[in-house]
Amino acid sequence: MRIVPEALIAGLVSPEDAFAAVEATFAAMSRGEAYNFPVVREALGEGRQYGFKSGLDRSSGQLGVKAGGYFPGNAAKGIINHQSTVFLFDPETGRPVAMVGGGLLTALRTAAASAISIDRLARRDAKVLGMIGAGHQAGFQLRAAARVRGFERVIAWNLHPDMLPVLGKIAADLGLPFEAVPLERMVEADVIVTITSSPAASLMAAHVAPGTHLACMGTDTKGKQEVEPALLARASVFTDEVAQSVSIGEAQHAVAAGLLDASAITPLGDVLTGKHPGRRSAAEITLFDGTGVGLQDLAVAAMAVQRAVERGQGVTVEV
Ligand code: NAD
Repeated sequence: MRIVPEALIAGLVSPEDAFAAVEATFAAMSRGEAYNFPVVREALGEGRQYGFKSGLDRSSGQLGVKAGGYFPGNAAKGIINHQSTVFLFDPETGRPVAMVGGGLLTALRTAAASAISIDRLARRDAKVLGMIGAGHQAGFQLRAAARVRGFERVIAWNLHPDMLPVLGKIAADLGLPFEAVPLERMVEADVIVTITSSPAASLMAAHVAPGTHLACMGTDTKGKQEVEPALLARASVFTDEVAQSVSIGEAQHAVAAGLLDASAITPLGDVLTGKHPGRRSAAEITLFDGTGVGLQDLAVAAMAVQRAVERGQGVTVEV
């Protein structure tokens, strides 16, 4: 089995690679060639979360699992709160193929999913990007969004305003004017990305203008919430995986409140394969509920392994 450590990932997989890999994965899911297994997620106490996301993609021959979670004490130790490792197996024999550091890959595949939703669902003339959240993932999200639309400025809100300058620096690197704003001013945004670990809605339906596309990326566990459920009732809702959207995604709250039916949620892969037309009018609000699926992790990890093998990088061990 090939071990590809975290430190090698940045040189092996680019944001563009992740975008292509996740697009192919969502399309394979839409064609019924790939499926995710039920997510396991357990609370370890003191805010620590640990779990498994796994799946099988028959089109690319990928079988595997990402093990990891959220360890809020890590920041004080100088390591990021999210920790994960991807394990790939041979789908014919079950033999382990690779063990791959999952930290950067998670950020890249999550930002790629968000950017794919913006690419396919946001208005072509979108000019203002709204960011809600300023933690580890937010910078990756901002960079990925800027790749798919010609944004002219960024407005941002975070519960902890002291975290916003780091995001402002990334916007500056991209040549985009950046302004910290109250939530009410999100109504100026054409695209809004939410990427927080919030347990209650911050963004209300009244903060969102007609024609906006939202990529709600932070809610990946039961009990998290970023936007008011009424917004999902007003929007055309898309997701990576419907089963996850209604149980651990942003839609869990609107579905529980009876404001949204699971049958009204469209897999983003259906837009990629042409089964769904995507945005239908300039005034429609579109909302992508990005819950994060195991198949995304397998796709980017497999790409990292393939490149590592080609370049003779990483370590091979017998197990
Ligand atoms: P982080 O710990 O670095 O940052 C947390 C962010 O949430 C910060 O902006 C912080 O200010 C904000 N926040 C914290 N408590 C809040 C509260 N009570 N109300 C509102 N905002 C609050 O985390 P991160 O790595 O940037 O991840 C952000 C979120 O994205 C997490 O919930 C994480 O689980 C989720 N995530 C989702 C996917 C996916 O595929 N959908 C992938 C990775 C991470």
